[in-house]
Amino acid sequence: MEYERAHANLVKLKLNAMESLLDNTLELASKESKSTLEVLDFLLEEERKAKETHLVDTRMRFAGFPSRKTLDSFDFEFQPSLEKKLVNDLAGLRFLYNAENVVFLGPPGVGKTHLAIALGMEAVRKGFPVHFVNAGTLMERLAQAEREGKLEYKIRGYLKFKLLIIDEIGYLPFSSEAAHSFFQLISRRYEKSSTIFTSNKSYGEWGEIFNDTVIASAVLDRILHHCTTVNIRGESYRLKERRKQGLVPRQ
Ligand code: ADP
Ligand code: MG
Repeated sequence: MEYERAHANLVKLKLNAMESLLDNTLELASKESKSTLEVLDFLLEEERKAKETHLVDTRMRFAGFPSRKTLDSFDFEFQPSLEKKLVNDLAGLRFLYNAENVVFLGPPGVGKTHLAIALGMEAVRKGFPVHFVNAGTLMERLAQAEREGKLEYKIRGYLKFKLLIIDEIGYLPFSSEAAHSFFQLISRRYEKSSTIFTSNKSYGEWGEIFNDTVIASAVLDRILHHCTTVNIRGESYRLKERRKQGLVPRQ
C-alpha cells in the first residue's frame, strides 16, 4: 500500500529520478543497513542532479547555438596571438555580472565563433538566459518586426537575455532601417546586459557595414564603453585542417 502510493506520488510530483531509483535504493539500504536519512539524502541528491542537467539541456537548446564548442577543445597553441589568460578570465563571466561586452575580431576561421559559443555555454551552465543569433538573421528579424509595427515588442524580447551573442557582424552590410533598429537594440541593452560580437571587420570599417558613419560611431560608442576586445591575428584553423588532408599546399 505505502509502496504503491510512494511510487504514485513521486510520479505525480514529477520526481522521476527518485521514482526510478526507489526500489534499488530501498533494497540496498536494507542490505547495508543505511539510515532513513541516508536514503532520503541520496534520493534527493540524485533528483536535484537530474533536474539540473535537464534544465541546462533545455537552456542549451533554447540558446540556439549553431554547434557545441568548449574552451577545452580550443587549441591555444595554434593561435599564439591569443592570450589564454584573457580568455580564461572571460570564462569566469565577470563581464556578465558587470553588464560589459566582449568583441572578437579577426579574419575567417580563427575561432571567433568557437570562443563566443564557449563563453555562451558557460553562461548557460551558470543559469543565465543566453541567446545566439547571426547578425544577418537579427537584421532580418528586426526589419520584419519594424514592418509589422512590432519593433518595440521584438526589442523587449531581446532585452530578456542577460547574454546576447551576435555573430558575424560585417559579412553583410545593414540597410539603413536595420541599422537604426540595431542602434535601438544596443542602446537599450547598454549598461544593463552583456553582448558578445564577432566580426571580421576592424572598428574603423564598421561605418561601411552600417552604411552610415554617424550610426556606426553611436553604436560603437555604446558597445566599447565597457568592453573587452579580443583581436585574433592568426591563421585559419579550417585551412590548417585542409592542409593536414593535403588539400592546400604549404606556402
Ligand atoms: P571564425 O568564427 O573566426 O570564422 P570558427 O570559430 O567558426 O571561426 O572556427 C572554424 C572552425 O575551426 C570551427 O569548427 C572551430 O571549432 C575550429 N577552430 C578554430 N580555431 C580553433 C582552435 N584554435 N582550436 C580548435 N578548434 C578551432
Ligand atoms: Mg564565425
